[in-house]
Amino acid sequence: MGLRETFRGCLGEERILDDESSLEAFADDLTEEEPSRPGIVLFPEATAEVQAIVRAAAKDRVPLTVRVTGSNVAGLTVAPEGGAIVDLSRMTRLEIDAREMIAVVEPGVTWAALKPELERLEPPLRVGYPLSPPHTSVLANCLLDGLGNLSLRHGSLGDWLTGVEVVLPDGSLVRTGSAAASASWCSRGPLPDLTGLFVAWQAATGIVVRGGVHVWPAPAFRRRLFVLAGERRGAFETMRRLARSTIADDAGGLSWPTGKMLFGVPRPGPRDPAEPEFFVYVDVTGETERELALRLERLDGLLAALRAEGHRLEPPFSIADLVRLEPRFARFADFPTSLDFLLHAPGVDASGAPLGGGLTWVGTYGPGSRLEEAADRVVPIMEQAGYAPAIVSRPMRGGHFVVLRMLMTFEKGDSAQRRLARETNRKVLGAVLPLGFLPYKCPPWAWELLQEQLDPGYAALLAKVRAAVDPGGIMSPRAWRRTGGGGS
Ligand SMILES: Cc1cc2nc3c(=O)[nH]c(=O)nc-3n(C[C@H](O)[C@H](O)[C@H](O)COP(=O)(O)OP(=O)(O)OC[C@H]3O[C@@H](n4cnc5c(N)ncnc54)[C@H](O)[C@@H]3O)c2cc1C
Repeated sequence: MGLRETFRGCLGEERILDDESSLEAFADDLTEEEPSRPGIVLFPEATAEVQAIVRAAAKDRVPLTVRVTGSNVAGLTVAPEGGAIVDLSRMTRLEIDAREMIAVVEPGVTWAALKPELERLEPPLRVGYPLSPPHTSVLANCLLDGLGNLSLRHGSLGDWLTGVEVVLPDGSLVRTGSAAASASWCSRGPLPDLTGLFVAWQAATGIVVRGGVHVWPAPAFRRRLFVLAGERRGAFETMRRLARSTIADDAGGLSWPTGKMLFGVPRPGPRDPAEPEFFVYVDVTGETERELALRLERLDGLLAALRAEGHRLEPPFSIADLVRLEPRFARFADFPTSLDFLLHAPGVDASGAPLGGGLTWVGTYGPGSRLEEAADRVVPIMEQAGYAPAIVSRPMRGGHFVVLRMLMTFEKGDSAQRRLARETNRKVLGAVLPLGFLPYKCPPWAWELLQEQLDPGYAALLAKVRAAVDPGGIMSPRAWRRTGGGGS
């Protein structure tokens, strides 16, 4: 029986794609992952349709891969050849409970759609934005436990979820969090925390159709600043000190190649030793102008103390001033933003196709005290492979852990470049894993490496939970599979 037959009646025929050319567009993502053409793509618009799809897939044993916009940079939406993709981008309902500061979102609600709805409230609310494109999904990023510009205060995005409504692999519907026992989505507890059964699971335990997400008051005054750091050690120490203070809402560091790319240099060459190695961005806010001024004064004091310890740090300058001098910096002035320079190099190739298009990274969460050691390991690996060492870091949840991300852009159409990116990613992750830097939005190749140091009890429990929730093994065939042990 064909796949269209399997899913006939689950949703309108016009929301099923199975022609060759349409399927081709769903075969690939931004990364070096090998393309693989799905057999069918389904676009449900309602929870009942998702339930019908999952029941039909379970009956005919069709593997399901979940997708919203495919921007995860981890190969997660590349389905196995001939499998089914469930595209949730048309589920776009959004409700905001302004009094409880909760947004209840369906998977298709994007950062760009949420922002104006929060800003027009009186008083306005805000959410933390990742650097991912504005058209990407709020709920997907929370479920993938990503990071955003309020993560210094509020942790990774999985922590912002207050509960979820999920279609389980047998098609039944479950609600978690306070919404499991009341009309309110206000909190994740106090019941046993089953929301975690769907965070970072990459759809292996079910398809989330709704989720409650924390949003926060928007302070009236804000200043975004850049601090240039002569060496990365000074940048890392600045971030650590900021994380322990109440000065900033957000702080993060970007190494020099990212700045060069922003200025249109697609493959930055060796660094001039006179150039700063890192720039640290800092978001400072206040309820009043006086509170903002006090925090800025404390920032100056913190930087002066670090300079006295020998770190080369320039005085902070505001992004607003910088944008006046160089409009390209406007991308950092307000979020969500489009870092298009990471997605496409300037220009076209001989056939007129855009250059670049390949983006990959090793994104990890790990202990902040080991940032220097980790960077010392990865910079030579990236340089030896011919990549400028583009590193992004950010302290999370008051500095209890940090993000460390090593990114590479490459020519999507060039198989040698894809191979080099794949090999370099493995070496980079292999260098930082023993230091405790673990991959988030874990790509299948990274999971292979991670298993080598995984507690066997944890691995066995993971496999047991998965088998209990999805005995037919239809969900997310490429996520969290045990390798070398016959699958989970
Ligand atoms: C330039 C650039 C910058 C980025 N910067 C950041 C950043 O700063 N921080 C950050 O966190 N990310 C960042 N990302 C990564 C990325 O944008 C996010 O992971 C992305 O927003 C996920 O949304 P999506 O709609 O593309 O999800 P998709 O890629 O379509 O989905 C990925 C996976 O999420 C899971 N999933 C999605 N929806 C559901 C659901 N309803 N139920 C169950 N599982 C589901 C599935 O496993 C699915 O395969 C960046 C990406 C780019 C391209």
